Amino acid sequence: MQKDQPSIFQQFIGNNIEREIKTVCIMVEMFCKHHHHGDELCEKCKGLIDYAENRIRKCTFGINKPVCSECGIHCFKPEMRSQIKDVMRFAGPRMNFKHPVLAIYHLIRKYRLM
Ligand SMILES: [Zn+2]
Repeated sequence: MQKDQPSIFQQFIGNNIEREIKTVCIMVEMFCKHHHHGDELCEKCKGLIDYAENRIRKCTFGINKPVCSECGIHCFKPEMRSQIKDVMRFAGPRMNFKHPVLAIYHLIRKYRLM
């Protein structure tokens, strides 16, 4: 087997960047539904997702990026950082029940099992 070929497991879960963006989207949607009571994402939350996606894609670590909560660089500007923190605080504990698969991958990466 070639060395830099992604494992079947990696192919299955996709790369870190896409998965992290997906996780952020789900978390912001949960937060918005609960706090802003719309059927669709409000403008503020849409803006937050756009901002986060942009930062994640531009992350200097590229495909090997660590999860943002562990990263030492803190590339979010303070205003966005405090917004995303509120989202994480609200949605984080709920992720385990609503999206067990993503939550498990998040934990796997958190403890660097991959
Ligand atoms: Zn909202």
